[in-house]
Amino acid sequence: TYVIALPCVDLKDRACVDECPVDCIYEGGRSLYIQPEECIDCGACEPVCPVEAIFYEDDLPEQWKDYQAANEGFFDTL
Ligand code: SF4
Repeated sequence: TYVIALPCVDLKDRACVDECPVDCIYEGGRSLYIQPEECIDCGACEPVCPVEAIFYEDDLPEQWKDYQAANEGFFDTL
């Protein structure tokens, strides 16, 4: 799955939302989140993010690894 990391926090540009073919990017209080069970790994969201906040899970920078659990956890709270 793809994961949204720190640069999205308090920005929520939403360019990715318009690109996602399966509408699996949701808005939370301070960030957008990708629903990992709905994401089809198409990669369409990654290049349109103006702040490069989106990464394939295996490519997450080391300092942002926690955002994978944060994305999943967001949906556990719904
Ligand atoms: Fe949506 Fe594709 Fe991005 Fe997954 S990789 S969130 S399916 S645009």
